[in-house]
Amino acid sequence: MNDESVRPAAVIFDLDGTLYLGEHLIAGADVAVETLRKAGLVTTFLTNKPIDSPAIYAEKLSRLGIPVTESDVLTSVTLTIDFLQRSGHGDHVFVIGEDYLTDQIRQAGFRIASTPQETDVVVVSLDRTMSYEKMRFALEAARNGAHMCATNPDVICPMDSGEIVDAGAWIAGLEALLKRPITDVLGKPSARCAETVLARVGCEASRALMVGDRLETDMTMARNAGMQTALVMSGVTGVADLKAHGVQPDYVLGSVAELPDALGVA
Ligand SMILES: [Mg+2]
Repeated sequence: MNDESVRPAAVIFDLDGTLYLGEHLIAGADVAVETLRKAGLVTTFLTNKPIDSPAIYAEKLSRLGIPVTESDVLTSVTLTIDFLQRSGHGDHVFVIGEDYLTDQIRQAGFRIASTPQETDVVVVSLDRTMSYEKMRFALEAARNGAHMCATNPDVICPMDSGEIVDAGAWIAGLEALLKRPITDVLGKPSARCAETVLARVGCEASRALMVGDRLETDMTMARNAGMQTALVMSGVTGVADLKAHGVQPDYVLGSVAELPDALGVA
């Protein structure tokens, strides 16, 4: 713990690799969350995965032994819809993404663009039906002036069946084609994501603790926003990755089960 660190008022949990792996709860994660809640800490749950609803994640966590309601879960899709509504780039959206994302965009009142010329915004996301045609459509729309944004920067997404290619791969491809970065990438580690989750938990950044297994998303977002950081080694990050990375978290834990002890609330 840093000298300046104070006991957090809120704990923000990443999901994959932090609370569960596939269908298996990380051992002791249920007890850890319960202990923190009993000690009066607010808990909330934040995932970059853009393919399922908060209700599905809440149901999964509850089934695995961590009681959670839909309103406790924030996803990169929630953040993307919020961005589309607030940014005012226009109402014709082309989606590189899956049905859940497309449905949410449609339900929020946007139209799915049928030509690159009418496209106001391109949303890039995880898409298991990605095609040459979608890439070409997005490129042409961008060259026509459509605004480019993305749900999340991850190149790999953990699934029960193994890892799959995520939005970051399409982002990199489009950035290479456009010769410029896509700056509005809305999930972790964006500042917008940090602001939204802090507003949800209702505390200052310095009193919020982000717990996650990824340095480049969970830890980077939290550090940039001034939150406290706890890296768990139960997911994608190994000891060598941690040594090589610029961000050194406030806490490095074998798993989330060690968190109450580390915070002195066991
Ligand atoms: Mg994770």
